[in-house]
Amino acid sequence: MDGKPTELDECRKALEESRAHNRRLIDFMSTASDSLWETDPELRVTGGFRVIWAGGGAELVDVEQEILSALSGKTLLEAMGGQTVPEAEWLQHTEDILARRPYRGFICPIKIGDQIHWLENNGNPVFDDAGHFTGYRGTTRDITGRKEDEALIAFMAQHDPLTGVPNRKLLRGKIQQALTGVTPEAGVAVLYLDLDRFKTVNDTLGHPVGDGLLRAVAERLTACLRGIDTVARLGGDEFAIVQTAVADRAQVCALASRITSAIAQPFDIDGHQVSVVVTLGIAMAPAHGGSSDVLMRNADIALYRAKAEQPGGWLFFEAGMGARLDARRELETDLRSALGRGQFEVLYQPLCDVGTRRVTGFEALLRWHHPVRGLVTPDEFIPIAEDTGLIESIGAWVLGQACADAARWPDSLHIAVNLSPVQFKSPTLVAAVRDALGKSGLAARRLELEITEAVLMQNGEGTLRALNELRGLGATIALDDFGTGYSSLSYLRSFPFDKIKIDRSFIMDMTKNEGAAAIVRAIAALAMSLNLITTAEGVETEEQFALVRSEGCTEAQGYLFSRPQPAADIDKLLAQIEGADGTRTKTADRQLQESLR
Ligand code: C2E
Ligand code: CA
Ligand code: CA
Repeated sequence: MDGKPTELDECRKALEESRAHNRRLIDFMSTASDSLWETDPELRVTGGFRVIWAGGGAELVDVEQEILSALSGKTLLEAMGGQTVPEAEWLQHTEDILARRPYRGFICPIKIGDQIHWLENNGNPVFDDAGHFTGYRGTTRDITGRKEDEALIAFMAQHDPLTGVPNRKLLRGKIQQALTGVTPEAGVAVLYLDLDRFKTVNDTLGHPVGDGLLRAVAERLTACLRGIDTVARLGGDEFAIVQTAVADRAQVCALASRITSAIAQPFDIDGHQVSVVVTLGIAMAPAHGGSSDVLMRNADIALYRAKAEQPGGWLFFEAGMGARLDARRELETDLRSALGRGQFEVLYQPLCDVGTRRVTGFEALLRWHHPVRGLVTPDEFIPIAEDTGLIESIGAWVLGQACADAARWPDSLHIAVNLSPVQFKSPTLVAAVRDALGKSGLAARRLELEITEAVLMQNGEGTLRALNELRGLGATIALDDFGTGYSSLSYLRSFPFDKIKIDRSFIMDMTKNEGAAAIVRAIAALAMSLNLITTAEGVETEEQFALVRSEGCTEAQGYLFSRPQPAADIDKLLAQIEGADGTRTKTADRQLQESLR
């Protein structure tokens, strides 16, 4: 033999190569997670397989796999059991199959029991030797897990994670969708909602309760709606509703009224009874705008007005409201620069001993001289300063100013400074107090800090630590506005206060209303038993003063004695009445009061 390969050798070699090739293919196939299937010419699945390597050769084994058995004997359309795929994809798939073309990556849902499985399918048409179509063969892969992840991501992108209701983005889409069918007889209403007391709940009872409240509110709102309407959470305590097929305003008012009464029912959140009030602003299409953005903005503007004019109620948008909203934004902008521009002034209002009428000290009350608006009261700008965080720097400035002014006064007079609950959230508060005392040289015992119950109700430990540190510096602590808000006596026990200030509303009602007088009496008695000073706020008449005295209050403050006055006036008066030896006489005090009046 000359060693030339014979035909047989060549055949053998080719066979070897083909075997090796198949072996490789089967290796790959048997590790793939895809299932194999084939159909008859009517596209019914006739068999499902897996490739396995057995006994030195490859075998296709019938598998009793859940998915393949669910497909068995059915066409894909039948297996889908009423589920649908996007129209364009379905059309493409049908075209491919009718033309007997291969197809790739056709994704469809099938129903197994009451579960939906998502399959990704590839198929090749099969023809017999005569060229007749005998069916398809292909692979399928269960991509349910991936589909679920995709669906979750898509859901998260359009929903509020806390409450599960749609978010702003989806709301905008829903409004747009609703607007395509809008007619004068079937309008669209966009309602913006704000919870009036949510911030206090969150600050005082903690975020878990706040979160629980938001979830409960979302549930109640959903229960107020028909299936065709949508509620969304815009963030914070703001929700919005799209009401569709609206015949008239009355229908919107009916919904608004359902919502306000549903939310007015107290909530039970983790054992806490919580009450909130909802205010609504409403914009309607076509009357108040034809696009989702305009409607949303106008509903927001109406809400802002409603909060100012009608808390707990609702207002429809009106032209001209926008200009006034800009005013609040302007105020916010102006407030940012007010401190730097020297627009703040601290006024001082005296506090008097009830028995002797002697002035015991002054309360610092902040004023903002706005270059255009004139005097802006703290009730208007302190909430803005709190919302924007500006209260931290403004509060520190008031402390510095008040201590510096008081340092010029006789040693027996104290100075009271109001602290906002928001200031207690800042780690710089104690340093700011220490700084004000250090710079002014004022004795710490002369500084009194006035806080409200809202301070104690927020984040217990940090607040108590700050209060104790302030006490540790030597300052005294007064509980302001007592009787309003929560007025829980437990707060009186949670911290050793030096003073209780009874809210002005009780003093105002005392002469007309035995109930108010009884409350003042009770607070004064309680304070006496705790060895605290009780200050009656807002004493305007001698009649009120007499009652305050007989009910046992020890200190009084109000227009009867003096309105808040600029520091220069206080200085002048104090200089006039102060004796040469630095002691004040009773007449001097009376003179002080009279001149201040
Ligand atoms: P407040 O602490 O309860 O202060 C007493 C308020 O009652 C002051 O109003 C005072 O001018 C007013 N007032 C005093 N006597 C009478 C009276 O006889 N009749 C009537 N009708 N009112 C009287 P003002 O100065 O407008 O301050 C309002 C609130 O703003 C204060 O209530 C306080 O909560 C807050 N505030 C004022 N200054 C500051 C400050 O520097 N920091 C902080 N955080 N809050 C401040
Ligand atoms: Ca006060
Ligand atoms: Ca007060």
